[in-house]
Amino acid sequence: MRADPIQRAIDEDLVRVLYAQDPIAFFSHWFSIAMLVAVYWVDMPYPQRFAACFIFYALANCAGLVLWMCHRRWPDALQPRAWIYLHAVRNALLYAAPGLAIWFAFQSPHTNLPLLHTVLIVTLAAGVFMSNGFDVVNFTTSIAFLLLPAIVLHFDVHTFDRTILAIVLAFFFGAINVYALSYRKLFQRVVQARIDQQTLAESLAVQKLVAEEASLAKTRFFAAASHDLRQPLHAIGLLAASLNDPAATHTQHAKTADHIVNNVEALNQLFNQVLDLARLESGVTQVIKLHFRLSELFDRVGNQYWPQAAAKGLALRIAPTLAVVHGDPVLLERILSNLLSNAVRYTESGAIWMGFRRSGRSAGGYIEVRDSGIGIPPDEQERIFEEFYQVANPQRDARQGHGLGLPTVKRLVELLGGELHLRSVPGRGSVFRFAVDTGDPARIVAGLNETASGGPSAPGRRVLCIDDEPAILEGLSSLLGRWGCIVSGVHDEGQALRALDEGFMPDAVLCDYQLANHRTGAQALAAMRDALRRRGREQAVMLLITGDMASAELQALASQGIPVLHKPVTAARLRRTLEMLWQQADRSPLLESTQPEREPQATPQVMIGGHAQGAG
Ligand code: ADP
Repeated sequence: MRADPIQRAIDEDLVRVLYAQDPIAFFSHWFSIAMLVAVYWVDMPYPQRFAACFIFYALANCAGLVLWMCHRRWPDALQPRAWIYLHAVRNALLYAAPGLAIWFAFQSPHTNLPLLHTVLIVTLAAGVFMSNGFDVVNFTTSIAFLLLPAIVLHFDVHTFDRTILAIVLAFFFGAINVYALSYRKLFQRVVQARIDQQTLAESLAVQKLVAEEASLAKTRFFAAASHDLRQPLHAIGLLAASLNDPAATHTQHAKTADHIVNNVEALNQLFNQVLDLARLESGVTQVIKLHFRLSELFDRVGNQYWPQAAAKGLALRIAPTLAVVHGDPVLLERILSNLLSNAVRYTESGAIWMGFRRSGRSAGGYIEVRDSGIGIPPDEQERIFEEFYQVANPQRDARQGHGLGLPTVKRLVELLGGELHLRSVPGRGSVFRFAVDTGDPARIVAGLNETASGGPSAPGRRVLCIDDEPAILEGLSSLLGRWGCIVSGVHDEGQALRALDEGFMPDAVLCDYQLANHRTGAQALAAMRDALRRRGREQAVMLLITGDMASAELQALASQGIPVLHKPVTAARLRRTLEMLWQQADRSPLLESTQPEREPQATPQVMIGGHAQGAG
């Protein structure tokens, strides 16, 4: 049996075709009645039975007409299958009359009558084949009543020519059934092809709509991004030009320089937000789950926002909790930071509450951030998750944010396997909530805030930098040099291997992704790792720096746990990442490589300084 929707489509087509032929059948049956009555008129055997039979035939024809009219008037009154079965009943009644009436011919002394009647029956059978052949029930009920009585009665005469005629009729009966079978198959294939085409057209239309929507969203994204990026750039240009003003005093220059620094910082922040989102979209963001005390994360985030809340006269309440959760603390921190920063920004009086609620299931609970702020109108509650969308910032004043926080939060929550829920009443406040999994206290390996103090230091560490861009190599070398590192800068993999041969054993290898001669940083790092392993220096840390976003190779690296930093990389982010990786390597000397593992037990320190790719 076919899948229901397809069978239903076939049935609908069957009903259409069956009933469309009925007016022609109606006329041919009246013609047949007239012909038979004319043939039998001269010598009518058993006139009463004959009259009853032909009245029945006429009534059946009228009933068929009524059925046809009902279907025309109320096509949806019955299921397609029911219309098909009703049509089959009508066929049985209509064709039984002329089929059985051949008995009268055999009762007549005129030997030609059975032959004449047979010709008429065969003509009707051809009509049945054309109009009902594609449905097994309708075809069988008609053809059996039409032909079988004639075949039996001709055989029963026991003369040579009648026996031959009966055989021919039986053969015709078999053949017409076989043809009808292939006719039905063809019909089903045609309907199937039509349905496939229709489904394809519908799915193409949906895909087209999705593509158009995506293209529109991209256009909106780029329009808003270019506007928000242009603003600080424009300001920096003007401010930089004013530095050339010979009439400006030293104090004015210092002030201008401060403005420039502020604008660069704003630009950097926006870049980072956009890149965060792009990283999330392209799937290179790693999730590193740990078992940790939620209260530690709450304290950490709460401490960041407590001063801002206090400055606005808001109470920031963090519900004490003993919950241990299993999640990625770095990503959770980004989520909560965004939600708290919004809560503070959009609340003028009252309180902000952050806490954990058990869900009733042992599997976990919910983290909630609530505020008593301005709230979000119902018709905006979906749109605020679109990139660069802000409810009330038509001038796109950068001090009021850029509309990237919630889209990032939503994707982060989804990346962690949850769903972000929002409840908000304008004028009363908002609640953002998402589920977290319960952790196992026995598997907590380190406190979240352990490395805030006392990370491993950079001075004295040997760093090998690989970048084919001389300016970047120089900038990187001088930055690492200022941190007290011993740096060797090389342009490609070959030079890097030579540096090893010459005895430079690095504690870290920093590598750009796109290298000269179509080599990638991933290939260079693999070669370096092999070379270092051969020299017994497995604990040297590897770090890839890239401006690429969505390459499949990067995704593969991310999934293998190889740390990737995305340009622009700030000095603080680079240092924090390196320190985190060194700390991990120092604490896990037995590990084969220094890359963060996805299993928390093996590398409990990974998150302490932040994510390799999200640190800073
Ligand atoms: P941003 O806060 O930088 O504008 P978001 O993406 O974080 O960007 O938020 C998008 C919009 O959602 C904001 O412009 C604001 O109008 C609304 N919004 C977000 N959080 C809250 C909140 N807690 N209360 C009221 N409105 C909010």
